[in-house]
Amino acid sequence: KECEKKVSVKNTLSIGALPLDNLVENTTSIPHITDLGFNAFQVHENSAFPFKGGENNALARIENYFFETQNVSQYKQTRNGLIGADYSSKLSAWLANGSVSAKTIYWNVKKYEENVEVNEDTYWLIFELIWRDYFKYISMKFGNKIFQLHGILDQKYEWKFNQKALQQWILGQTNEPFVNANMKELAQTGFMSNRGRQNVASYWAKEWKQDWRVAASYFESLLIDYDVHSNYGNWLYNAGVGNDPRDRKFNIRKQAEMYDENGAYQRLWHNN
Ligand SMILES: Cc1cc2nc3c(=O)[nH]c(=O)nc-3n(C[C@H](O)[C@H](O)[C@H](O)COP(=O)(O)OP(=O)(O)OC[C@H]3O[C@@H](n4cnc5c(N)ncnc54)[C@H](O)[C@@H]3O)c2cc1C
Repeated sequence: KECEKKVSVKNTLSIGALPLDNLVENTTSIPHITDLGFNAFQVHENSAFPFKGGENNALARIENYFFETQNVSQYKQTRNGLIGADYSSKLSAWLANGSVSAKTIYWNVKKYEENVEVNEDTYWLIFELIWRDYFKYISMKFGNKIFQLHGILDQKYEWKFNQKALQQWILGQTNEPFVNANMKELAQTGFMSNRGRQNVASYWAKEWKQDWRVAASYFESLLIDYDVHSNYGNWLYNAGVGNDPRDRKFNIRKQAEMYDENGAYQRLWHNN
């Protein structure tokens, strides 16, 4: 809160076209995924992230989520959703690979607030971007400690590691249908909602007390929006070895009742 009061966000820079003599002939063609030895794939029909990469698509998403649909006006109320493209901004992947900056998003929120409306929801998108920044500062401050079992505060818990448990968690074969649905979504699409991520992380690290770093590296291998600071920062936090060392865990059944009241999300992924 103090930072928010004291820090101002710089304007984005616009770079004009470069002079023509700066151009060189481009003879490189972009390889297809199969040229690199991977299998071709189609975006899953239930994917919450049905978008394409690149700056133009990121800007089109901002235009759509903010100005065309005005979904940002309900962001705080919908951000814990689980199904579809529009419960949250879905800007994370473009942010992670540098296609769009947090500043660009910030100034679009401001433009929206000036031209459409200001409410708690529009502020909340900025608030979440501050979390993103916060985890970058944690990395800068604590360096490699963010990858260590006892975390940034040397919080000592007993951790286990069981290969069978890992397979059950990854394949969505635990005793918790809500965890399973989320893990299936991740495996099939490379995306999982924030609500889902918190639940599967809590189940792995706090319910099963398994080495949180193994699961964090599984996320690292699959998340389409993988970002070292946000991933390890959130894992530290959910494993209780981050800046908030309280030993808490999610009640997964209650979470499922609250956020997937009629079971639609679980059915969506259990049938896949
Ligand atoms: C265990 C775990 C691992 C995670 N790993 C990643 C990761 O590798 N990369 C990543 O970008 N996010 C990660 N997150 C944070 C969050 O889940 C995603 O940023 C969010 O789900 C992306 O969807 P969105 O863009 O629609 O988010 P929105 O709700 O629309 O939020 C807008 C933006 O705010 C930022 N943001 C929102 N929530 C968080 C948060 N908790 N921490 C940091 N930034 C946040 C993101 O940049 C996001 O794009 C993780 C969360 C957990 C609990």
